[in-house]
Amino acid sequence: MADYDLFVIGAGSGGVRGARVSAAHGARVAVAEEYRVGGTCVIRGCVPKKLLVYGAHFAEDLEDAAMFGWDVPTKRFDWAVLRDNVLSEVDRLEGAYGETLGTHGVEIIRERAVLTGPNSVRLASGREATADKILIATGARPQLPRIESIEHAITSNEVFHLDKIPQRIVIVGGGYIANEFAGIFHEFGSQVTLVNRTDVLLRHYDQQIVDRLLQISVRKGIDFKFNSKIERIEKLESGRIHMTMTGCDDFEADQLLFATGRVPNLEGLGCEAAGVEVTDQGAIKVDDDNRTSAPSIYAVGDVTNRVQLTPVAIREAQAFADTVFGNKPTRVDYGCIPSAVFSHPPLAAVGMTEGEARNRLGSVKVYTSDFRPMKNVLAGRNERSLYKLIVDGTTDRIVGLHMIGPDAPEILQAAAIAVRAQLKKSDFDATVALHPTMAEELVLMR
Ligand code: NDP
Repeated sequence: MADYDLFVIGAGSGGVRGARVSAAHGARVAVAEEYRVGGTCVIRGCVPKKLLVYGAHFAEDLEDAAMFGWDVPTKRFDWAVLRDNVLSEVDRLEGAYGETLGTHGVEIIRERAVLTGPNSVRLASGREATADKILIATGARPQLPRIESIEHAITSNEVFHLDKIPQRIVIVGGGYIANEFAGIFHEFGSQVTLVNRTDVLLRHYDQQIVDRLLQISVRKGIDFKFNSKIERIEKLESGRIHMTMTGCDDFEADQLLFATGRVPNLEGLGCEAAGVEVTDQGAIKVDDDNRTSAPSIYAVGDVTNRVQLTPVAIREAQAFADTVFGNKPTRVDYGCIPSAVFSHPPLAAVGMTEGEARNRLGSVKVYTSDFRPMKNVLAGRNERSLYKLIVDGTTDRIVGLHMIGPDAPEILQAAAIAVRAQLKKSDFDATVALHPTMAEELVLMR
C-alpha cells in the first residue's frame, strides 16, 4: 500500500483546494511546499496587490474629500506602515491556510518535492514517499527576457518588500501586473514610465475599454513608451539604474520592474522520470479531467498554463478532487470567466470583446454608456467610466460585458451571472434601475 492516497506538490490556491477537498472525501493526503503555504495569490500576488491598490487609492480619495467638505490638513504617506501591515496580513493568511489543511488531516511537508516515478516523489531531505495519485500544483513564476544585467531589475516577487517607494520607476510590459503597478506607484507619488514592446496594452481586453484606461492614465501623468525595448541595463554608482533603449530615449530610474508574463514552474520537477508530457510552451499537458500523460498524475493551475487565474486553479482543483476522490465527475467550464485589472480606475470583463463577437457572430449589436460618475462630478475629477454590452443581434443574448470605472470588478461579478446564464438584452432592459448607482447604467443602455 502507498504511503498516501494523494501527494500534492505545491500549496498554492490549487494545491490547497485539491488537498483539502480530497481529504474531506476521505483520502490520506500530504502536501509538499518549498516556500510558503498560500502560493502566489496569497503570498505575493492577488491579496497583497489588492491591499496595495486600496492603500494607493487613498491618494485620490483624500484629494477628492475637499469638495465633500473635508479638510485634511496634513497628508503624508508612509510606505513602511502599509508594507508591514500588508505583510502581516499575508502572514496571518498563511497561518489560516495551514490551519485549514491541518483541521482536514492533511500532512504539510515544508520541503521541495520532485517526481521520481508515476507513484513516487523524493523530498529535499532525501526521504522517498509513494502515493496512489499525485497532483502537481507548482504554479508559475515571473518570466524575464534575456538582457544583460537583468538581475538589477525586480519582479512582482520583490515588489512587496521594497525599502522605499522609488522616485522614478520604469515598468516593462503591458499586461495585468504592469498596469496595476503603474497605477499603484503613481498614486504613491512615483514618476512612472511603462515600456511596452508593441502599442497594444492588455491584449485580450476590449480595446475601447483599454483606450479609456490609457487616456485616463496619461492624463494622470503616467508616461507610456510604446514599441520600445530595453537593450542594456547598467547599475550606476549612485544606485540608480541606467537603461539603454531602442524605440525611445534612454532612462535612469530608481527601480526597474519587469511584468512580462509568467512561466510554469517545472524546472527539475522530474516530469520525464514520471512520464509526464510537457507542451511546447513548457506547461504540463493535461486532458479535460486534469490528468497528465501519466495516468496516476494530475495537474491544476498555472503549471498547466490554461487560464492563469486563481479562481480557475481553485475550480480545477475542486473538479479534480470531486472526480478522483468524491465519486462525482466534474469538469471546469472555461466558457465565461470574468476577469479584472485592478488599475486606477479598474476594468473588468466577461465574455466576448466587440472584436471577437464581430469575428464569430453574424450580427452584433453594441451598447455603450459613457458617463462621469456622480462622485467624480462633485469632486471635480474629470474621469469618465465606460460600460459596453455586446449583444448577439440574432438572438438578443448578451455575449460580452466590458467595464472601466470605480468598482467595475465588484459590479461585473454580479452581472457575469446574467451573461453566463445567457440572459438577453431585453432581460436587462426589463430590470428596474437601482438609483442612484453606477451599476444602473447596465439596465439603462438603449
Ligand atoms: P500578462 O500576460 O498580462 O502581460 C505580459 C506583458 O508583457 C504583455 O504586454 C506582453 O506583450 C509583454 N511581454 C511578454 N514577453 C515580453 C518580452 N520578452 N519583452 C517585453 N515584453 C514582453 O502578464 P503579467 O506578467 O502582467 O501577469 C501574469 C499573469 O498573471 C497574467 O496573465 C494573469 O493571468 C495573472 N494576473 C492576473 C491578475 C488579475 O487577475 N487581476 C493580476 C496580475 C496577474 P504582448 O502583449 O505583446 O505579448
